[in-house]
Amino acid sequence: MNYEELLKVARDQARKGFEEGGVPVGAAMFDSHGNLLGEGRNRRVQEGDPSIHGETDAFRKAGRQKTYRDKILVTTLAPCWYCSGLIRQFNIGTVVVGESINFEGHLDWLREAGVNVIELRDPECIDMMKSFIDTRPDIWNEDIGECDHT
Ligand SMILES: [Zn+2]
Repeated sequence: MNYEELLKVARDQARKGFEEGGVPVGAAMFDSHGNLLGEGRNRRVQEGDPSIHGETDAFRKAGRQKTYRDKILVTTLAPCWYCSGLIRQFNIGTVVVGESINFEGHLDWLREAGVNVIELRDPECIDMMKSFIDTRPDIWNEDIGECDHT
């Protein structure tokens, strides 16, 4: 499986979110053959809905699946607790992470549950997230549920 190719779909979503002034996290779900099932992006700012993270958006767009063991969830940034919980709840087999530099997430917690975690350390994902955090730290802190004490 060419995970870099799959990441492009999630990264395009993240870039769209960035251009919309939202949190630039994109995600996509694929079947075991690499066929796209659903894609989405964080739209908390755009929709005023804090429950729309990239991963949850892609998950919902993919619709009902009989099993998630053979599914691949690709996300541009290491998943937060909320999305990590979703991955464990539905036993998603493989999670591809674009980057975990700007936010390290809880990848060990996923691995402990038997999730196949693949880290790509993609420079474009790293740069896009970094420029967002640098310009809008307030929005970012709200997104990961952390008060910025200002
Ligand atoms: Zn999340």
